[in-house]
Amino acid sequence: MVLTAIVGRPNVGKSTLFNKLTGRRTAIVDDAPGITRDRIYGKTEWLGREFSLVDTGGIEDSKDEILTEMRAQAQLAIDTADVIIFVTDLRSGVTAGDSEVAAILQKSGKPIVLCVNKCDNVGKTPPELYEFYNLGLGEPFPVSSVHGHGTGDLLDEVIKHFPVGDGVHDVPPEDEISVAIIGKPNAGKSSLVNKIAGEKRVIVSEIAGTTRDAIDLPVEYNGEKYVLIDTAGLRKKSKIRTGENVEKYGALRAYMAVDRSDVCVMMIDATEGFTEQDSKVAGYAHDKGKASVIAINKWDLIEKNDKTMKEFTKTLERDFSFMKYAPFVFISAKTGQRIDKLFELIKYTGEQNARRISTGMLNDMLAIATARVQPPTDKGKRLKLYYITQASVKPPTFVVFCNKIDLFHFSYQRYIENQIRETFSMDGTPIVIIPRERGE
Ligand code: GDP
Ligand code: GDP
Repeated sequence: MVLTAIVGRPNVGKSTLFNKLTGRRTAIVDDAPGITRDRIYGKTEWLGREFSLVDTGGIEDSKDEILTEMRAQAQLAIDTADVIIFVTDLRSGVTAGDSEVAAILQKSGKPIVLCVNKCDNVGKTPPELYEFYNLGLGEPFPVSSVHGHGTGDLLDEVIKHFPVGDGVHDVPPEDEISVAIIGKPNAGKSSLVNKIAGEKRVIVSEIAGTTRDAIDLPVEYNGEKYVLIDTAGLRKKSKIRTGENVEKYGALRAYMAVDRSDVCVMMIDATEGFTEQDSKVAGYAHDKGKASVIAINKWDLIEKNDKTMKEFTKTLERDFSFMKYAPFVFISAKTGQRIDKLFELIKYTGEQNARRISTGMLNDMLAIATARVQPPTDKGKRLKLYYITQASVKPPTFVVFCNKIDLFHFSYQRYIENQIRETFSMDGTPIVIIPRERGE
């Protein structure tokens, strides 16, 4: 997948542009306070070309000086992106910081598209626009991110720079489960992949293809085919990724790997526990409807008694309360402990993610569920659920026809979701419920 990065000073409108180009996500009601779902990475499409977009300004809350932060952003974009959109602000004009970053970007040789944001007046070219030619990045594209003006011309220019023939690796064959191995640097991702590759029961196919953002390893385990997406791989090969950029890379590549996967293995370092970054990526996997397995690694290093695993589980259940469906497994990438169990869970959650339930069985479930717990009423009007059907898989998505959407509160949707889970033992995967209104 082609990656386009957005770079620029704070407040020039990067996140507004990002939202405009990716389409704002509907609000997610969540019972896990403190889970921030930053809008920093998303997919979009222009003239039939699908591509990923990242707002480098959102990758980390910056405590740095603006210029330091901008340099880091620019470097990240240069190292990862195919095309860079450099956003400036018509109202503030060209600043010294803009010039410095423009110079860094230009030196990289990457295709740069210069966006001058906040050109809110349609039709006439503002005279202030010409000053932006001085940045040496070619023609400035006037845009109003708030209104959307000019974004079409901007995207026309962006896709002109896309490499030809990209996207070959994006669609995995049907009979394979793509597994993204996600985790902070040093969580043990490479160790796990290496351990798996070295196992007797594992047949490693030839390295079929290496995408830019990860190394894919096709393996066969107990007769099942998997593709392991090792997000640590690239870093190991490259020398430029050092210091704090490693962390930012990790985050960015994790998002990209999640997109390509069926199942995400969230690796948590048992000696460090759950972190903010883990929750962001896990939240992204949840939003994207991917199945997840939470693997607590380096279990060999933990001093244990009979209660340790229980205590760990309790804490993790709280950390991952927004994805209660995800199973835990305590592993050691070093000794190979429970790697067979891990594969079992990957296979199981992957199957759950792709499961289809017949309309007849779903409606039997609905009849029982609505009889057991009456749908809510509001101002004398009662919610009626007429019909349920599964619209799609990966994730299992159910459309529920009702008399009035406003009455179909989140709590009752959650109840229906739980009934689906219970009735059909559907676990390990997010479930999406889509309410639809239909006349009585
Ligand atoms: P970021 O820090 O670069 O991500 O900037 P934001 O997207 O948060 O935008 C900073 C401010 O500029 C917000 O108040 C936006 O509403 C405003 N803004 C963004 N784009 C435009 C635009 O096209 N026109 C105008 N007038 N304001 C904008
Ligand atoms: P990555 O950055 O997530 O790919 O992490 P690595 O696989 O490079 O592992 C980081 C460090 O942790 C290395 O020194 C590994 O040897 C060590 N490590 C990884 N998994 C385990 C484990 O299960 N047990 C122990 N004791 N060490 C581990």
